[in-house]
Amino acid sequence: MAVKERSAQDDVRQSFDCAADRLGLSKGMCNMLIEPWRELRVSIPVRMDDDRIEVFIGYRVQHNAVRGPYKGGVRYHPHADEDEVRALASLMTWKTALLDIPFGGAKGGIELDPHTLSDAELNRLTRRYTRSIQHLLGPHRDIPAPDMGTNAQTMAWMMDEYGQLHGYNPSVVTGKPIELGGSAGREAATGRGAVFVLMEAMRDLGMQVQGARVAVQGFGNVGSWFARIAHEEGLRIVAVADLHGSVCNGSGLDIPALAEYAREHRTVAGFTGGENCRTEDIFSVECDVFVPAAMENALTEENAGTLPTKVVLEAANHPTTPEADRILCERGIPVLPDILVNGGGVTVSYFEWTQNLQQFSWTEERVNDELRHRIVAAYRAVVSKARQAGCTYREAAMEIGVERVARAIQLRGFV
Ligand code: GLU
Repeated sequence: MAVKERSAQDDVRQSFDCAADRLGLSKGMCNMLIEPWRELRVSIPVRMDDDRIEVFIGYRVQHNAVRGPYKGGVRYHPHADEDEVRALASLMTWKTALLDIPFGGAKGGIELDPHTLSDAELNRLTRRYTRSIQHLLGPHRDIPAPDMGTNAQTMAWMMDEYGQLHGYNPSVVTGKPIELGGSAGREAATGRGAVFVLMEAMRDLGMQVQGARVAVQGFGNVGSWFARIAHEEGLRIVAVADLHGSVCNGSGLDIPALAEYAREHRTVAGFTGGENCRTEDIFSVECDVFVPAAMENALTEENAGTLPTKVVLEAANHPTTPEADRILCERGIPVLPDILVNGGGVTVSYFEWTQNLQQFSWTEERVNDELRHRIVAAYRAVVSKARQAGCTYREAAMEIGVERVARAIQLRGFV
């Protein structure tokens, strides 16, 4: 699925440059917005279960904190190198600004395949990483969260390790287990936010929601929650793909059964409720909405020209290359961009942080209502900017995010 030769930073930079041009920002301001404020690369020695010592490489990139503490996930993935973590950190800055939540942007990562480590090894690795970056973290400094390859358990270990050094403080990470101060609705939040955006967009585009055909590429946290909630809303999930294969069913997959199957087998491949196909066949399934919910660079110049869809909903971070973006634009296929569509995760992280600071918990209903309110407001702002400026949704979303951060820099007056 993912190709690692291209530079993620260069791709994200193209979107930034376009927004900066439109806003007429000075070269100095652009440089302030592009350069990460702080970066840390750490070596993480871990004693493995067989007594060997392995050394992993980890990062925390703090891109910008002008609008509030740094915020962003920690990714465990073989591709989580400096280039990728930097690109994703900057996307967090534009995402938090677009969603208008009081955080900056950061990202962390460790280059490894988490499936090759036992739980005990992952626990030791996470603690060592946390210890190595602890001086950068804090409820009002930098607040990590889960991303690809990490989950609520990872956050529990991070919180515990940070607590051993600085005292009990659950608001130092978000996406925790509910029992340790996590928020109701956080696990499903990214998928749910994507459904909220899609429903609004379909109405605006004059598309029928009930029975609309949806193809979902990726069935991890985001893809599976998206599919479950979209299915409940009456959309028809006609295909789902992961690294091991895809399953297709023109009359709609039984998503609760597929989710159950995937939980047990750790893949959708082999599910009997549909036709089993190759992973890449997902790009040729006739659908109304295509949802990349896996890695970067899923949509490329190779598949964008023939992708049989009416709309692309970017649930993953940076799933579309700039070339693919251009091709989709020429074909008149609207692309709802990542920093808007997957902003539900960090929005509910903000609610979790707020609840922790207040030592008070909200009901899931309240979380979901507030999420809808915020993400729909961001969607509306993007649509009206795109209409007014005659640009794509991605250009509009970036322009709003970049403008808010630039304005905060001016107001702080620190140069
Ligand atoms: N990793 C998620 C993202 O890319 C969530 C980040 C957070 O909650 O801080 O948006």
